Amino acid sequence: MQFTDQNRLFSLWGRDPLAVSTLLHKQYRLHQASGDNERTSEVRVIDEITNFVSTSGAMTEGRLYEVPMLPQEILDQPDRALDYMLQAVHQAVDWGASLVGLGSMTGIVGGRGQYLADRCSASVTTGNSLTTYAALQTLYQACEEVELDLKSETVAIVGVPGSIATAAARLLSAQCGKILLVGRQASSPAMKLSRELQAELVLDIDEALKRSRIIVCATSSGDCIHQSALRPGSIVVDIGVPSDVRGSSPLRGDVLILNGGLIGVPESVPLDSKMLWFQHGMIPACLGETIVLALEDRPESLSLGRELDLDSIQQIGAIAASHGFDFSRLLSFGRELEPERLLKFQKQLTGRRRTANAPESIQNLSARAENWFARHINPVLQAMSHRTGFVKTFVRGEGAYLYDSKGRRYLDFVAGFGSLNLGHNSPSITSAIQQALQEQAPGFAQSAINPYAATLAHRLAQLAPGDLEMTFFANSGSEAVEAGLKLARRVTRRKAFLSCNGGYHGKTMGALSVTGNETYREPFSPLLDSCKRIAYCDYDSLERELSTGQYAAFVVEPIQAEGGMNVPQRGFLREAQALCRATGTLLIVDEVQTGMGRTGTLFALEQERVSPDILLLAKSLGGGLMPIGAMLTTRELWMKAYGNVQSFALHTSTFGGGSLACAAGLAALNQLSSPEILGNTVRRGEQLRTALEEMCERFQCLKEVRGRGLLLGLEFQPLSETILHHWKNVDRGGITEFLVPGYEDSLSSFSALRAMLVLLEGYSIYTQTARSNPYVLRIQPPLTIDEEQVDSFLDALRATCEEIDATDRMFGAIVSKNSVAEFERNAAPVLPETPDNTPSSK
Ligand code: PMP
Repeated sequence: MQFTDQNRLFSLWGRDPLAVSTLLHKQYRLHQASGDNERTSEVRVIDEITNFVSTSGAMTEGRLYEVPMLPQEILDQPDRALDYMLQAVHQAVDWGASLVGLGSMTGIVGGRGQYLADRCSASVTTGNSLTTYAALQTLYQACEEVELDLKSETVAIVGVPGSIATAAARLLSAQCGKILLVGRQASSPAMKLSRELQAELVLDIDEALKRSRIIVCATSSGDCIHQSALRPGSIVVDIGVPSDVRGSSPLRGDVLILNGGLIGVPESVPLDSKMLWFQHGMIPACLGETIVLALEDRPESLSLGRELDLDSIQQIGAIAASHGFDFSRLLSFGRELEPERLLKFQKQLTGRRRTANAPESIQNLSARAENWFARHINPVLQAMSHRTGFVKTFVRGEGAYLYDSKGRRYLDFVAGFGSLNLGHNSPSITSAIQQALQEQAPGFAQSAINPYAATLAHRLAQLAPGDLEMTFFANSGSEAVEAGLKLARRVTRRKAFLSCNGGYHGKTMGALSVTGNETYREPFSPLLDSCKRIAYCDYDSLERELSTGQYAAFVVEPIQAEGGMNVPQRGFLREAQALCRATGTLLIVDEVQTGMGRTGTLFALEQERVSPDILLLAKSLGGGLMPIGAMLTTRELWMKAYGNVQSFALHTSTFGGGSLACAAGLAALNQLSSPEILGNTVRRGEQLRTALEEMCERFQCLKEVRGRGLLLGLEFQPLSETILHHWKNVDRGGITEFLVPGYEDSLSSFSALRAMLVLLEGYSIYTQTARSNPYVLRIQPPLTIDEEQVDSFLDALRATCEEIDATDRMFGAIVSKNSVAEFERNAAPVLPETPDNTPSSK
């Protein structure tokens, strides 16, 4: 068929399938009305697939031929259709095809391809095996999404004794409660199938729809199911071409009508074929089968006749998946099903009742985790995981190791950003929690005295520097910061806070107000007013600001961890303490990340001989298993803030000081203050630092190593200027900056990101970059890490840096060669000599 509205059609192609089909429909009616004048009567090539590359690297090429008949005409005039198809097959063979696939409607005439296969030298397949496989995958996926158990369902298979319906019935019979075979007449193959599967043959489709909630339909006549006849909660997998379900859009919200027999094109396939990328990369599985056989270099007549081989169906499905074809996308009337629609449907189906009574194992839960994480927690993070693979689904943690759902083991050099100083599931912490559980300790009891909390506060008072002896228990680092800020305001009656650029104190409103990262603050402004930041360790600014006497507190970290492991020069914190004392400003030291042994002493402050007015803890205070934060202060300050009947309950938290968290806290404190752990931290820290310093000398991509104990950061050099310059040259219009504001910074810090990816995928080592300084790879393993584990990390890092240096050199050389060539082209354009550009003789 020729289209008059070509431009509009192609502008919609692949973007709006519904609009395209409406347009096609309109065109068809138009052609019918005009007596079909413009229809071609020739078989013709409508698309050429020149470089189909599967995700496993296999390649093939092909052509798509169009037979100039409409579906209804093919059904009405099978002989004419057969003639055209024979012409098409011969054309394809002349072109050089060794395998010919019959698409949708053409697959059913001529004894389902047998006639054509007998008359040509190439193999012929209908594609019905992969179509059957794809349709069943759609059904399984839908059932999983809406948590429906096929075993307790009656499934109607419409279109018996067609080859797809027959194969689908055979494959499904063992997997569902009951099968109803639905056909137009009691034909002998239909009766035979009914006997074989001991399934009832139903000749009235409406009766079948009343009796089943799952319908798989694959007729060749189409239009046999009225949406209104479906039971609420029905799921229809419609494989029919033309569609078995009437209408071009869903009319009801309480049924799910899915396109069956479509599959996703592998992501590796270039976008230059309009046919393949029509419908957002979903193609009929019959076409997919031909492509898969071609990719495998297996020119076989896989799917001919009425009886499809069940093993071949499973086999071709698995092979297709290994080439990157996607069976997981659910479409309804040509449009991707929105997750909200699925959720709504599921709610209708099951009510709000929980389906599983017993808690499921984490391994089981992980099967759907990525999908549900995207849907209900963070689609962007999940998309990054999907694209780059650097966001993992971990299902087990033990000591310094994490395990993913496939059992792959990763050495953890992130350690929960300092929450896992004792490693994963440390036996000392699990047994402390188990003991509290065994004793049936009350989880939470308001306005009551909790023995675990009281003991933990006492232990903290014994171990904390100076005369910090009062503790407020919170549930996170940010909450501990909030408690500190509020106490400082109460005590000093001043409202302003001073903190440092690059500092990180959390993301709740108050904590964010003193966090020194504009990117985090700006989207939520206005935050607490009168907050100001100075450069880290800038004594003069600190003195100038504090002398104004307006600040309730100066908030500072002993080492800026998120800021890129910035270590202050010795003495700064003591000087800051003196300035604070002199100006009536409280000194709040945030040891949420530096504390609990991380730097080789229980608190980093011990190495500075500083005793703050307020000390903040969290992360590893929970032993890596419980959330807990703590604000420690002196008795004097606490009494000033909260020391009477009117004020003692001004700042509280429902969960703060809960039994399990404090039981874990007690065990964590005991372990992390032990000479064994602290000694190991110092020794492993030295082992790492010495090797990393050597590496900084040796590798071009590295700049320096910073930090203390096992709180280390390895700063990478910015990506070479040549490469950056080249990119800007390529992208003169600035589209990258437009799409990804600030991309230059991200691109510039690419080496650290790359190291992180290579370590993860190449060496199974889990690292992260510092949140506020992407040039810095954080090196922050559990404090229990041993010498051998550190060695294996160092070997992997050496190999990674070698690789980065080598590829940078290679890339740099190519880029500078190109840039020079381009520069020369731009600088001295070679123009043809015309009277206008010949040098004038003036
Ligand atoms: N302060 C510091 C120094 C931190 O490193 C963090 C967390 N990275 C926080 C506060 C905030 O802790 P949380 O994420 O538990 O709120």
